[in-house]
Amino acid sequence: MTTRTASCSCGQLTAVTSAEPIRISVCHCLACQRRTGSVFAAQARFPANSVAIAGAATTYVRVGDGGGSCTFHFCSTCGATVYYTCQGGEDNIAIPVGAFADPAFPAPTFSVYEERMHSWVEMPVDIEHMD
Ligand SMILES: [Zn+2]
Ligand SMILES: [Zn+2]
Repeated sequence: MTTRTASCSCGQLTAVTSAEPIRISVCHCLACQRRTGSVFAAQARFPANSVAIAGAATTYVRVGDGGGSCTFHFCSTCGATVYYTCQGGEDNIAIPVGAFADPAFPAPTFSVYEERMHSWVEMPVDIEHMD
């Protein structure tokens, strides 16, 4: 069993995963661009019971276009988001792939909201495209 550790920039907020990700995706939507400061977000979902969280988090609730909301948990010291959950999907915890700081982390298989994708970004050829 692989365990992986996601952490904020300063290291006080961590999430240790003890299962393989259920789904790995990237999202090009504008809200994800603003949240991450990057031009797209990459995240992996894990079964909630396989994630052990430690440290103090502040939360921000974002209501999406479809009315559903996601709650982002971030470090109030350094500001990095370490995990989030979305309404209706509380069995899963999503973790930004970058929080693992692991270049060997598995590649995403879904690409979402490509109408907002920056023109210079290229996705893997075999990725599945979703709205
Ligand atoms: Zn921090
Ligand atoms: Zn998004």
